[in-house]
Amino acid sequence: MIRFSWSKEQVQAYAKRRVKYIRHIEKVPNIPPEEREKLKRVAERYVFRANDYYLGLINWADPNDPIRHLIIPREEELSDWGELDASNEKAVTVTRGVQHKYPDTVLLLCNEVCGSYCRYCFRKRLFMDENSEVTNDVSEGIAYISENPQVSNVLLTGGDPLLMSTRRIVEILEALWAIPHVKIIRIGSKMPAFDPWRVLNDLPLQHALQSYSAPDRRIYLMAHFDHPRELTEPAVEGIDTFISCGVICVNQCPLVKGVNDDPAVLAELYEKLSFIGCPPYYLFQGRPTAGNEPYEVPIVRGWHIFSEAMKHGAGLARRARYVMSHRTGKIEILAVDGSYIYLRYHRAYDATMRGQFMIYQRDDQACWLDELEPAEGLGAPRFEPVPPGEDWNDAD
Ligand code: SF4
Repeated sequence: MIRFSWSKEQVQAYAKRRVKYIRHIEKVPNIPPEEREKLKRVAERYVFRANDYYLGLINWADPNDPIRHLIIPREEELSDWGELDASNEKAVTVTRGVQHKYPDTVLLLCNEVCGSYCRYCFRKRLFMDENSEVTNDVSEGIAYISENPQVSNVLLTGGDPLLMSTRRIVEILEALWAIPHVKIIRIGSKMPAFDPWRVLNDLPLQHALQSYSAPDRRIYLMAHFDHPRELTEPAVEGIDTFISCGVICVNQCPLVKGVNDDPAVLAELYEKLSFIGCPPYYLFQGRPTAGNEPYEVPIVRGWHIFSEAMKHGAGLARRARYVMSHRTGKIEILAVDGSYIYLRYHRAYDATMRGQFMIYQRDDQACWLDELEPAEGLGAPRFEPVPPGEDWNDAD
């Protein structure tokens, strides 16, 4: 039985809401015309999309408003910096739309659209015309998962899976449910932030979530809130709806310059997330993705922000791990002192590296593992950036 926490009147009031999508930066009235012209050039390279609800969260009087930085393009994005596939996802793509990096977890890239586009997205290549990494037909992925009994976790991602029609979502959940070794289905989505009505308005979706999240095989929502101001009343109700449908909610987000690179903001976000039943899971170091230079936070500064935020709130607000999703694995940024940066593999593609502790020279400018120098004589590997188009797995 679904437990609705809303009164009937509240459900009816919210159910009337339909967000209106805006695909052209020229149509955002709060940006002065001359600025819109400049940003149009940026949006031609890295697509823009937003909706009236989310644009309404912006304080237009503040040029440094964090929500503005999250979705409104900036000219600096056109700098010559980074790679489109900075963590070489191509190398772990086993068939179109299917990534398999760690034995137990498969990613299905099943949609190439999002509710809005985060400017700092590491998968912005998927939204470009020439991209063919996403597939609407997940049958090959389902067959691959069926043939690999070690796969217990499947992450639906993209793009945002909750932008797909409910019919398609249900078909995928049904197909995964039919594979007995799949015990966890994760839905990676920013829709609870961009458009909470996606779940609030959709009873068939709620019923599907309830049907396919069982006591011994759960659906997880990997929510993506970056800033406490995104936790509006409907957003909180959206999370409550997922929980009411038996979905376990956790939050993961990157550390983004101008959005949440402030210990007080991060601590507030984490505390509120813990209150609403969506505790923090990962804080990601920004990948060196093309277009993302204005949003980068160096590792050392990031660690200071994270560790300061971790001094606040109760235990459930302090469950995040600060990690780099490097092409070789998920690497936890454990500590920084006057001389060194201390890292450990949380997940590793190469089984021999799992749990490996590594020490690098402190470098206050470095934003990524490939920029760090191993501490002398302590055995940490040196990583070179992979030239574009090269497959690092083949080189092993
Ligand atoms: S919601 Fe996720 S996939 Fe979509 S633009 Fe934002 S970060 Fe990228």
